[in-house]
Amino acid sequence: MSFDTVVMVDWSGGNDRGAQPKKDAIWACLARDGRAEPPIYHRNRQMAEQWLNTTLKDELDAGRRVLVGFDLCFAYPRGFAQHLIGSEDTLALWDWLAERVEDAPDANNRFDLAGEINALFPGEGPFWFNALKREIPSLPRKQKSRHSHGLDDRRSVERAAKGSFSPFQLAGAGAVGGQVIMGLPMLSRLRHNFGSALSVWPFEASDAQIVLAECYFSLVPLPPDGHAIKDAAQVRHYAERFSAMSAADWAVLLDHPADPEGWVLGLGHEALLQGPMDSLTPPPLRNDCFAMPQGAHWTPVDDALAHLRAQLGPVTRIERISTHGAAGRILAEDVIAERSHPPAANSAVDGYGFAGALASGTHQLPLVAGRAAAGQPFDGAVPKGQAVRILTGAILPEGVDTVVLQEDVTAGPDAIALHGPLKRGANARKAGEDMTAGQVILPAGRIVTAADIGTIAAVGVAEVSVRTRLRVGVLSTGDELVQPGTVADDGQIYDANRPMLLASLTRWGVEAIDLGNAPDDRTKLRAILDDAAARTDAIITSGGASGGDEDHMSALLQGTGSFALWRIAVKPGRPLALGLWDGTPVFGLPGNPVAAQVCLLVFARPALALLAGADWQEPEAYMLPAAFTKSKKAGRREFLRARVTDGQVEVFPSEGSGRVSGLSWATGLVVLPDEAVDVAIGDPVTFLPFTGFGL
Ligand code: AMP
Ligand code: MG
Repeated sequence: MSFDTVVMVDWSGGNDRGAQPKKDAIWACLARDGRAEPPIYHRNRQMAEQWLNTTLKDELDAGRRVLVGFDLCFAYPRGFAQHLIGSEDTLALWDWLAERVEDAPDANNRFDLAGEINALFPGEGPFWFNALKREIPSLPRKQKSRHSHGLDDRRSVERAAKGSFSPFQLAGAGAVGGQVIMGLPMLSRLRHNFGSALSVWPFEASDAQIVLAECYFSLVPLPPDGHAIKDAAQVRHYAERFSAMSAADWAVLLDHPADPEGWVLGLGHEALLQGPMDSLTPPPLRNDCFAMPQGAHWTPVDDALAHLRAQLGPVTRIERISTHGAAGRILAEDVIAERSHPPAANSAVDGYGFAGALASGTHQLPLVAGRAAAGQPFDGAVPKGQAVRILTGAILPEGVDTVVLQEDVTAGPDAIALHGPLKRGANARKAGEDMTAGQVILPAGRIVTAADIGTIAAVGVAEVSVRTRLRVGVLSTGDELVQPGTVADDGQIYDANRPMLLASLTRWGVEAIDLGNAPDDRTKLRAILDDAAARTDAIITSGGASGGDEDHMSALLQGTGSFALWRIAVKPGRPLALGLWDGTPVFGLPGNPVAAQVCLLVFARPALALLAGADWQEPEAYMLPAAFTKSKKAGRREFLRARVTDGQVEVFPSEGSGRVSGLSWATGLVVLPDEAVDVAIGDPVTFLPFTGFGL
């Protein structure tokens, strides 16, 4: 048994929200076969209910089975119905509420009714949070004022669903109580309108043509879908997911006892709701992505980079995470301001606020009583010609557009004296002068900085869509390698590359995976690559990358049909061996530590950034005078280990690419162009600091 149509409804307890689609309003979405229609905004409950009746009638007439999900608690904690109507019959409680709830687009009695219900219970409660200014008999404002009403705050389903709220909490951030009171009467009417064609899960058998079910739209994280309004994105996602379920999925989902406390559809089956991860996994890289025209000539660095840039794209998935944890992650979607910053015009200084500009000369302005402070707005308007005490960050009260610094006035108890001139708008910040609601503040592909966290938080965005971390394996190859901490024979050397490459990758925010060491043995290397490809998104190897007898990395990649040996006109660096092992890109770097690290920075870093879903990364470059001389022939681009002393760039005395200590000596690289150059002392050269490579 399954459903032809799924309708998801995000209900609301508030008044009419106006014609313009808004968040925290009623949103509905209809989907069939995993495809959703655009979400529909309903400005008030009356219109939403009418739409539901019409839509369900149409589905019924068309002979389609419909599941309708509402983000409403269908029941209250055990004992509530028993006390009010003398039985645990949840559906009878709906009717009982329908008789008592009064609802119009701009007024309803939810708080009063909650108070009246509370009065029927002993002690104080169970409902709380009167959000109205006036007191309501028996309805406490605070949760802890309640006592002895004899009920649990939560049903077993609320205890099981992370982050869900008590249906007794009527207001406050995230509360659901108001919409439940205002929703159950509508459900009661739907039941009566559709009679035996409708049943309510899990209280009744779910074989009717229309089945209503309780949903909770925060069960699974939302995939990014570009809808700026979260409620709309939620109803669409749930409608799509539920409408894609098979009969077998439905058998699992609907299997629940007819407990009078009810249950949330999908709770405990989140994996089904999440949907196949494949749907979010980008297509694999093409087998020929590293293929480059091979010729007698060495490939210029810029051509090699252009090739990587053109061929590589994201292989990571997308997830939603809290803004707080997003530093170093890659944005998968543009971040859009939910609110302007600043949200309202406010004062930039501590001082006195008034209207308009002041001409030069002395002025005396009477002070109004009271003050405006950050978080404590001034209640009222400031008459023309008068001033109000105002502190930094305070919203400008009505009648104020200009602020004078407190240091620039003589303040008495009832008036201030000051010298003009002062421009209109002085020391005031305009609403939205920094960022405006709806504006893209950070683009997809950006690597989030610490400052970005502040920027995102300032516009009220709590969650962002980011790429999952790229998993990059690092493997050293060579029979001569041993690990520090073990005794090395003559002819053995310590493995320097692997810890250096792993540390660099970790600095870039990728998940660096240590693949250990491979001997110069093809069978063993093949087994290591097989295992690595299964658990990484990219593999970086060092050593064995050229075309010699012991260059097993190249030899193995050759057999995959995706191999390319890039002979790049660069120093240091021998050929780069590139290929796909079981679809996983392999970057075979040279074995010499300096060449390995330089090739990692110059070629692998931007390539990995693209695979991770980030923008193309250019290193930061500065022109600085040389403190060295060098004559260089045309043909190869050269990277020299360099550092800046007294504003001049010096280079490491040796260019030996095995001399790893020179990388520690250096704070960056000098890059000399492909052409011939003669560098004299004081000539400008290009310096690339390691920090500009993200190290
Ligand atoms: P290969 O590219 O394998 O011919 O290696 C070139 C040079 O780099 C040889 O001198 C190797 O011993 C050295 N080498 C290779 N891998 C490493 C490593 N992981 N750490 C330090 N030196 C290495
Ligand atoms: Mg080797």
